[in-house]
Amino acid sequence: MSKRGLELYVHIPFCVRKCAYCDFLSGPADDQTKRAYADALVREMRSVKEKYSNYRVDTVFLGGGTPSILEGDETARIFHALSEDFDISPDAEITMEVNPGTVSAEKAETWKACGVNRLSIGLQSADDGELKMLGRIHTFGQFLETWEIIRRAGFDNVNIDLISALPGQTAESWAKTLHTAAELGPEHISAYSLIVEEGTPFYEIYGEPEQGVQARSAAGQGRVLPPLPDEDEERGIYQATKEILDRYGYHRYEISNYAKEGYECRHNLGYWERKEYLGLGLGAASLVRERRFHNTADMEKYMGIFGEAKGGISDPASGEGAAEDFEELTLNDRMEEFIFLGLRKMEGISEQDFRRIFGKEIRQIYKDQIKKLTEQGLLAGAEGRIFLTERGIDISNYVFSEFIF
Ligand code: SF4
Repeated sequence: MSKRGLELYVHIPFCVRKCAYCDFLSGPADDQTKRAYADALVREMRSVKEKYSNYRVDTVFLGGGTPSILEGDETARIFHALSEDFDISPDAEITMEVNPGTVSAEKAETWKACGVNRLSIGLQSADDGELKMLGRIHTFGQFLETWEIIRRAGFDNVNIDLISALPGQTAESWAKTLHTAAELGPEHISAYSLIVEEGTPFYEIYGEPEQGVQARSAAGQGRVLPPLPDEDEERGIYQATKEILDRYGYHRYEISNYAKEGYECRHNLGYWERKEYLGLGLGAASLVRERRFHNTADMEKYMGIFGEAKGGISDPASGEGAAEDFEELTLNDRMEEFIFLGLRKMEGISEQDFRRIFGKEIRQIYKDQIKKLTEQGLLAGAEGRIFLTERGIDISNYVFSEFIF
């Protein structure tokens, strides 16, 4: 019997320090904590491996946080355990997130030896002033050093992460960052807009729109920052992204992701296509057999289950590890997800796939929504596919919300 496909995500919740806009599950930690966490991850893998023995792993993504903050031997231990406990496909895409300031030639060589074949590097902006405002630990010069190290180590499938719509950013300053990144010739560029998340220093500054920027700045640790771009400026920034990256040979295959031909991120595509994935590590989310769940986000609890003192007491037979908040997805949930995740891709969704998976006609179930959104010029259809138009991409959240009951 052939094995089911699985994507693996491994979370490394450590960073040198917290960036001003970041609400990811990550933060600084001492060397002992990092080492103990790497060991706990290995125990977590051991505890769930039986349950996933009939799966073949097609992609692995070591994300964070800043996975490159780990010492080479810690990373090697994690990858060694992964390859022992899971059936990793020989042509698996194995990605690791790295950040400038935490990369050395020795580490890069270790990652290569571990089978990592794709790196995602956080640049965010090519402007040192913007990097400082974001609270990043690196300058553009330090990014370039990292870039040279990873290219020299032979990594030939690399993503550069950028963030647009920064405070004070104009279409021109954003264009400069795009040109600078594209000139380097990475195989993939992710360009997400800044989202001001609650609980971040940026939220204290920008989170309550009814107050003036100056007043909000006073709340934001005494810093005075420029205002966020308005809607028109943001649209200009967004359009510049596609135009500029097009010229360098990057095609947009998802709302915020651009790749040279053949270098689309398989791991993320799997997520948008609702492939099964298992998250390992603190707070990591999973979708397995139409059940969503995630690991505890409480480090003490996680280490209580998998830390050395407890010796990994989780019952291996249960295979649940540190997972909690199980949610069985209904047919409706699954159909909705199929649509709003699938529409993120520029190729959109296939009517035939919908029929094959759900045994129903998408144009019957969502007749009213498809008709209305098509008349509004936000959705289009061709050759059995339904996809966002340029206008639909601009207000994609509205389009998606129309499919959620
Ligand atoms: S490096 Fe990334 S994960 Fe870490 S604090 Fe900054 S934005 Fe968050």
